[in-house]
Formats: sequence, structure tokens, C-alpha cells
Amino acid sequence: MICDSQLHEVITSILKIYQNFTGLINDNERDTLTGLLNRKTFDYKINKILVQMQEEAKLKNDEANKAYFLAIFDIDHFKRVNDEFGHLIGDEVLLLFSQLMTQTFRSRDQIFRFGGEEFVGVFECSSHDDIPNVLNRFREKVGGFDFPQVGKVTVSAGYTQIFAYDLPSQLIDHSDLALYFAKNNGRNRVSFYEQLIADGALQENKKEGDIELF
Ligand code: GH3
Ligand code: MG
Ligand code: MG
Repeated sequence: MICDSQLHEVITSILKIYQNFTGLINDNERDTLTGLLNRKTFDYKINKILVQMQEEAKLKNDEANKAYFLAIFDIDHFKRVNDEFGHLIGDEVLLLFSQLMTQTFRSRDQIFRFGGEEFVGVFECSSHDDIPNVLNRFREKVGGFDFPQVGKVTVSAGYTQIFAYDLPSQLIDHSDLALYFAKNNGRNRVSFYEQLIADGALQENKKEGDIELF
């Protein structure tokens, strides 16, 4: 017969193993510099969101006005930061930038370091009109922040609405095109893919992923 203290020891050991295991999973999920979720985790999470949206669509369970958006953020002229101040200070900017992201966005928004100085956010908004405010508020926060030694840094972003039957690659392409537009039109700004298409600033070719910039 196993006594209480032995049972306690067994449970403690199992919990320790479980803690180590979840720690390992966490390490694999996250970027080592910023602690944000990494690109591999993005692939998994975006598919999960799409499947969930498809199920909601089948059940016709759309909550009124609920919408999802995917945004790509890219720090403006980041090469200059590295060139002028060195890679280590560049890393510090990335770390502070990621902290501004987690401070600004809500905890249910999912933020990823996509690579280098590119970050991706997946946002669930209760109203369609929220998203430009959310993104611009962050852009302004970055622009107003005093980065030690470096001073001012700005960010550009491109975003697109997520629909249940979109492909993850399509979502990235669309936000990337909007980001490219923001970069080509002065930087330190946020562009919305669907709006650029509606305005004729971007033209969608019949062949998906092949879009011309005007
Ligand atoms: P743009 O406004 O067009 O985005 O200009 P940019 O200079 O930011 O251009 P680009 O996005 O091409 O440059 C990204 C630079 O980010 C290049 C690379 O040296 C730097 N970088 C990528 N990963 C890291 C990193 O982990 N640490 C540091 N310090 N720099 C990185
Ligand atoms: Mg870049
Ligand atoms: Mg950049």
C-alpha cells in the first residue's frame, strides 16, 4: 500500500516532469531574443484560427461584427540602426519594440516575431473600425518612444482582413503588399490591403499572389 507521503512525492515528481516538459514546449514556441511567439508557432496558430472561423461559419455562429485581421510590422530603416550603433544596440531596439507591442496590444491579440525586424499580429476586433485605431495607436507609441542611444525609431505596417477560407500564404502576401505600399509612401504609416485594392492603388490580378503596384 502506498502511503500519503509517498503519494505526495510521486505527484510532486510528476508535476516537475510536466513543468520541464511545458518549459521545453515554451522554448520551442518562442523567439529567444524577444520572448515573443516565433514563426513556427504562427503557422500553427493561424491554421487553428482559420479552422475555428470555418467552424463558426458553418454553424452560422458569426458574432455580430466580429472580424479578424493580420498585420505585418517592419521597423523603418533598421539597417541604419545597426550600422550606426552596432548589432547589440539593434538587438536592444528589437527587445524594447517587442515590449511596446505586448504593452500596447491586448493579451488576446497574438503577436509573433516573424524574423529579423518583422513582426506579425493577429487581431480579433469586435468592430471593423477598431483595427486602424489599434494599429495607429501602436505606430504613434513607437514614434514617441525614446530608444536609449538611438533616439527615434518608426514603424510601418500592412494589414489585411482574415476570412475563413483564406490561405495563410495569401494573408501574408496581402499584408506584405500593403506594407510595401506603406514603405513606398513615406514610411511611419499603416496601410490596409483591401482599402488599397478598393482605391485602385493596388491591383489584384486574376492569378492569386500576382499583384501589381501602381
Ligand atoms: P525599411 O524601412 O525599408 O524596412 O529599411 P530597413 O533598413 O529596415 O531594411 P530591411 O528591412 O531590409 O533591413 C532589416 C535589417 O535588420 C537587416 C538586418 O541587418 C537587420 N536584422 C535582422 N535581424 C536582426 C537581429 O536579430 N538583430 C539585429 N540587430 N539586426 C537584425
Ligand atoms: Mg525588414
Ligand atoms: Mg525594416
